Formats: sequence, structure tokens, C-alpha cells
Amino acid sequence: MTEKTDIKSMDLAQLQIFVEGLGEKKFRAKQLYQWMHQKLAAGFDEMTNLSKDFRSKLAERSELHGAKVIRKQVSKDGTTKFLMELSDGNTVESVWMQYHHGNSVCISTQVGCRMGCRFCASTVGGLVRSLRTSEMLDQIYEIQRITDQRVSNVILMGIGEPLDNFENVVQFIRMLSDADGLHISQRNITLSTCGLVDQIRRLMAEKLTITLAISLHAPNDTLRATMMPVANRYSIQEIMQVCREYVEQTGRRITFEYSMVEGVNDTPEHAKELSQLLHGLLCHVNLIPLNPVDGRMGNRSKRTNVQEFKLVLEKNHTNVTIRREMGSDIDAACGQLRNQNKGGETT
Ligand code: SAH
Repeated sequence: MTEKTDIKSMDLAQLQIFVEGLGEKKFRAKQLYQWMHQKLAAGFDEMTNLSKDFRSKLAERSELHGAKVIRKQVSKDGTTKFLMELSDGNTVESVWMQYHHGNSVCISTQVGCRMGCRFCASTVGGLVRSLRTSEMLDQIYEIQRITDQRVSNVILMGIGEPLDNFENVVQFIRMLSDADGLHISQRNITLSTCGLVDQIRRLMAEKLTITLAISLHAPNDTLRATMMPVANRYSIQEIMQVCREYVEQTGRRITFEYSMVEGVNDTPEHAKELSQLLHGLLCHVNLIPLNPVDGRMGNRSKRTNVQEFKLVLEKNHTNVTIRREMGSDIDAACGQLRNQNKGGETT
């Protein structure tokens, strides 16, 4: 049997070629695209403005689902974590969060991760594989179907390093913001990276208007290298340089994520050093009290240390917020997502 075509990963131009290859008129591609990406059709049968013959050809040759929900866990704050199964049996996690300003979905971009950050659960076991575009899209489509609410913000902060899956992630962002799809504004899409400088430059060439978040976690290279192996590849100075270029090109404010580990990176001196580092850059620091992960580095900073760190940043004119903790009771918070065995009950 020949493998089925992953038509949900195709943009409109690619889909037109595919549709013509099936002997159909080019304009049918747009109808098909809208069924998949706007009306979020669950099956080809729903696509009633396509002929029966075309639908059966599609069902025979192509695959409609990239990911499906196999388990759902609801936190006491309403945050919901979904375990998604991919067509090859691998699983990833996605998180749904409700804020006053809208609904956010945090998606995974890879099965596992090879970046090796010492405090993060997602990297345990390394990288299995990168996700296809359809597998990222379906994390959102499935959640929107289940909750019956519109997703307004998407964050690429789940399992994986998005820039280690560059082409598929860029295609995903374009398709997600496409007027024939869910049409989510690129401004409402945040991509978080551990700081792969060359890939950030490549991303700039794509001229997207997304928000860039950098996982910094330390104000100097020596300390950063004890937390994140990637610090041995790229220095903080190189990261700062590419961030300045990013701001210049896009006019967008950069977010720096700073996970606070007790006794490691959370002193007032670190805060001062961080302020000096970021001085003059259009940016914002997001403090994330560490979510402890079994077998991984460190404990969470004390609340008073987090507050003091924030005050020092403010005194030095650095924009800062403390990230609201959502879903930590169901291991849905930052750094807690991991590959899990399937077989859990669907609730
Ligand atoms: N690979 C990307 C996307 C992951 S985003 C990146 O590194 O940015 C998840 C965010 O949570 C990152 O800032 C990550 O460094 C942070 N994080 C990882 N483990 C954490 C933990 N145990 N507690 C708090 N934050 C954590």
C-alpha cells in the first residue's frame, strides 16, 4: 500500500498541485483547504460542496488527521492539558489556557527535544522526531473543536525546540495566520526558543510578525552553561546582537524568559546584571518560578526572592512580569510537559 499524502500540511499552492494531479479543477483546492483549516472538518464526508467521487479519491489517497486527543486533564484553575496521539503512535502534549483577553493554546513542536536544558522535563529521553505541520495545526484544531471556543493566541512553548523544526514551524505559522484558515494574527503567535542564533536570523528572513521569546535564564554565559548546553554554542552577546536586529526589523518587543532556580540564578546581583545586559533593548522579562521536575535540576526560588528580583529589575527600568502559574497541579506548567505513555483514560 502506498503511503497516504499528508494534505493538511500543504499550503494552498501545494494543495492546488495535488488536486490537479487528481484530475480536479484548481479552484477545488481552496474549498478543500477551507474545509480542513477553517471549518475544521472531521471527515471528508462533511465536505458537501465537493463531489462524492472527489471525496472518495481523497479518502483513498490522503490523510486528514495529524493528531487526535486521547486524554484530557483539567486543572483547578481551568487550564486543560491534552495528550495527543500522532498517526505513528507517538504522543505529545498541548495546553489550553483561558485569560480575560482570550484563549491560548500552547503547542508542542517536536516529540522530545535535543536541547538538554537541565531543568526541563521535555528533553528527558532526547529527540524522537520533529512534528509535521499538520500535527502542529491539529493540536489547535482539535482543542478548538472540543472546547467549542475560538483560540485567539498560540504559543510555541510546549515540547520541543521550534527552531530545530524550522521549515515545518514556519509553514505552520503561515497557515495558522492565513485568511483561508483560522486567521490568527501573527502578532498573537509567540515562538519561544532557547536561542539558536543562526535560526533566529533565518526566521527574520521570513518576515513574520510573530512575538519572539528567548529562554535566557541567566545574565552571563558561565552561569547559563550550567543550565543550558546550548550556551556552549551561542554566547549571550550573539543572542543580544540578533535580538537588536530583530527589534530593528520588526519593531516588536522581545520577551526574555527567566526561570528562577533557587540559589542558582535568583540573587539581586543577577537581577542587576540582567538589567545591565538588557539596557536599551525593546524587551520585557518574564520571570517563571521554576516548576520542579523529578530528577531534573533545582528547586523553585522562594517567593520573596522572586519579588526582590522583580523589584531590582524595575528599579533599573527593565520591564518585568511574573508569569502566572497555570496548570501546575496537572503538570501542565512550563517545563513539565513530557512524552507519556498512551493508554490513559479519556475523561
Ligand atoms: N525550546 C523552547 C520552547 C520551550 S518553552 C525554549 O527553550 O524556549 C518552555 C519554557 O519553559 C522555556 O523558557 C523553558 O526554558 C522553560 N522551562 C523549562 N523547564 C522549566 C521548568 N522546570 N520550570 C520553569 N520553566 C521551565
